Amino acid sequence: MPSPDGRPHDSRVRVRGAREHNLRGVDVDIPRDLLVVFTGVSGSGKSSLAFGTIYAEAQRRYFESVAPYARRLIHQVGAPKVGEITGLPPAVSLQQRRSAPTSRSSVGTVTNLSNSLRMLFSRAGRYPAGAERLDSDAFSPNTAAGACPECHGLGRVHRTTEELLVPDPSLTIREGAIAAWPGAWQGKNLRDILDTLGHDVDRPWRELPAEEREWILFTDEQPVVTVHPVREAERIQRPYQGTYMSARRYVMKTFSDTKSATLRAKAERFLATAPCRACGGSRLRPEALAVTFGGRNIAELAALPLTELARSLPGGSETARVLTEDLAARIAPVVELGLGYLSLDRATPTLSAGELQRLRLATQLRSGLFGVVYVLDEPSAGLHPADTEALVTVLERLKAAGNSVFVVEHHFDVVRGADWLVDVGPGAGEHGGRVLHSGPVAALEGVGESATARFLFDRSPGPARTVREPRGVVSVGPVTRHNLRGVTARFPLGVFTAVTGVSGSGKSTLIGEVTEELAGVGRLVSVDQKPIGRTPRSNLATYTGLFDVVRKVFAATEEASARGYGVGRFSFNVAGGRCETCQGEGFVSVELLFLPSTYAPCPDCGGARYNPETLEVTYRGRNIAQVLDLTVEAAARFFADADTPAVSRSLGTLLDVGLGYLRLGQPATELSGGEAQRIKLASELQRVRRGHTFYLLDEPTTGLHPADVEVLMRQLHGLVDAGHTVVVVEHDMTVVAGADWVVDLGPGGGDEGGRIVAAGPPEQVATAPGRTAPHLARALA
Ligand code: ADP
Ligand code: ADP
Ligand code: ZN
Ligand code: ZN
Repeated sequence: MPSPDGRPHDSRVRVRGAREHNLRGVDVDIPRDLLVVFTGVSGSGKSSLAFGTIYAEAQRRYFESVAPYARRLIHQVGAPKVGEITGLPPAVSLQQRRSAPTSRSSVGTVTNLSNSLRMLFSRAGRYPAGAERLDSDAFSPNTAAGACPECHGLGRVHRTTEELLVPDPSLTIREGAIAAWPGAWQGKNLRDILDTLGHDVDRPWRELPAEEREWILFTDEQPVVTVHPVREAERIQRPYQGTYMSARRYVMKTFSDTKSATLRAKAERFLATAPCRACGGSRLRPEALAVTFGGRNIAELAALPLTELARSLPGGSETARVLTEDLAARIAPVVELGLGYLSLDRATPTLSAGELQRLRLATQLRSGLFGVVYVLDEPSAGLHPADTEALVTVLERLKAAGNSVFVVEHHFDVVRGADWLVDVGPGAGEHGGRVLHSGPVAALEGVGESATARFLFDRSPGPARTVREPRGVVSVGPVTRHNLRGVTARFPLGVFTAVTGVSGSGKSTLIGEVTEELAGVGRLVSVDQKPIGRTPRSNLATYTGLFDVVRKVFAATEEASARGYGVGRFSFNVAGGRCETCQGEGFVSVELLFLPSTYAPCPDCGGARYNPETLEVTYRGRNIAQVLDLTVEAAARFFADADTPAVSRSLGTLLDVGLGYLRLGQPATELSGGEAQRIKLASELQRVRRGHTFYLLDEPTTGLHPADVEVLMRQLHGLVDAGHTVVVVEHDMTVVAGADWVVDLGPGGGDEGGRIVAAGPPEQVATAPGRTAPHLARALA
């Protein structure tokens, strides 16, 4: 079939000379309309190829076609470093690592299921006698027509309390008892008004009569009085007319009216939120809540787990039947992907990245798009092995609809299910960046230097290990939260424990309840996947404290002393040594009309972040920007024989957790959740540890190739051998098989889970009932 431009149809995406990040002039041909998996150790360049090159180039072409005027700006931002790509269809990325979803987005809005449900209520709902039929907008809390007038569709109202407004009641008003008051003149003004009104501003707050305290803090009255200001040391002020405003009124007004983020944040400290009484937290106006379908209003249906929602949609009229069938068909793939425990009203910020990506994936099945490339990043993250088969089925269906599906994945069940495999490596960073194999999965077996081949085809059993004896046990619970109802879990001390169970069974909820107060536990360290910082100003070196030492090293050079440069001169966060054009960010923001704003390298420093004078100072031949540009591995060599033990220790632990390929200055915003977690673990490991520590990790293997998992496990088991306790939430059955103890939650997700179905050594849990057992048994075999 000839393509529109008249050239013969090419069924392959052909990439030539890809040099993004660590890619070493990669040439690769990838067939379209297939399920293609990209593998390789962490940092090998999989994402640089799939996202940084193929997806980025498709995006760039799309921008150019919709907004030709933006061409110059796009040029400025930079296209992916690639010679040429041909045969590239439009691309859709389901990975949303960096966008911050708004609190108004929910499972219902992400999947569009809310729209369908509103349509159902508008057209086929049961209305109170005499009520007018409502438009489907009237069932949305995000429209003026539907939002509860009390809380403006937020479902919660802000209120304040005496405890918040007056944190220290032993103080007098003059001493600043009312912490919520503004500072400076306005604060004195309010105090003087109260004085004029006859209140005792020199008595401790707690000794004032209750009704007086109530009035001062909460009144809506705004009395105007003539104030004779107390004489201040150096000047005498004249009497004036002052208006009183209660602390609550002041806080509320500031919170809703101010344009200053600082003032708003300050006001927020004195506010607590509570469910709105008018709508009961449902965010809808009473007229909408009065409409029912199958005996429930729309808020009640939106609160049901999706599995139950699908069951409780009766047909009824012809209109209703068509609409409910459509809803059921849209819910089915979500349930298939193991997310049936979610409800439509669940806010997206409370979902994990894996859950969110799978929701988007399920939604795409009904989008009707074809001829596009879907690019996904580890869709199996957070997924129990029992559900990975369904994941492959869904990916197959997306392909069957006429699309290409490109997936960066580590889970071998997904890898084995692929039609085509692109293996990148052999190592990370500068040791990777080559395509070792592009072809059918089975053909990887002959590729000697591939770490993936070693794990995918080698079935020799793992090294024998001795099961450790616990030194005691701690109880957590009874926990009643989310789907856990009075669950008590026991964690043995001094051993390695894995918490397992399908997605939504309650694993995160349970470990979230582990607190420092546990008897027998010295210190609790929870290592999560939250970013190490939200701006490019935080990076690996600043987070671990490594940068402080490096700056001292630079400040101690002869050149720096001669010029009088101190430690602060080498910071890119304060004025002095940094480049002022970009204020030390290295990047400037470029606004594209109608398009999301994006970043371009700073025109002055070219990304170096410092001004030229600062960069003239060198240590062992490198300036500070060049040191920040080193990978951990290169930095370890650079500092090897320098007398800087703190630097060596820090770099050593980063190498130990498999992060040798990261650059010291790599901004926090460019790191994946798994990388952030390993950085936190490394900075934990570099501390001198005293006494017993209880380590908690939620899915530490996310984003890791089995080769990296080995490295990480060596570290974690090392901690246990040193006398500490490690508890991980984990889906990787090789990790679970290597644990001393397993706590399996389930049997299902949401209301069908939340119980401990088995607890014991892996061999015992492998023979227990439940969905984990068969998979664990296979890993132990
Ligand atoms: P993978 O997906 O295989 O884990 P990546 O493609 O993310 O690997 O990274 C490959 C290499 O490119 C690594 O050395 C990494 O540090 C580097 N890298 C990744 N993102 C960036 C970036 N935005 N800027 C510069 N280097 C990067
Ligand atoms: P797991 O970690 O096993 O995937 P979770 O502990 O995240 O399971 O979830 C257990 C149950 O609690 C699920 O029904 C989930 O929908 C619910 N849940 C989890 N977090 C929240 C939250 N922030 N708000 C409401 N429900 C939640
Ligand atoms: Zn309300
Ligand atoms: Zn600059």
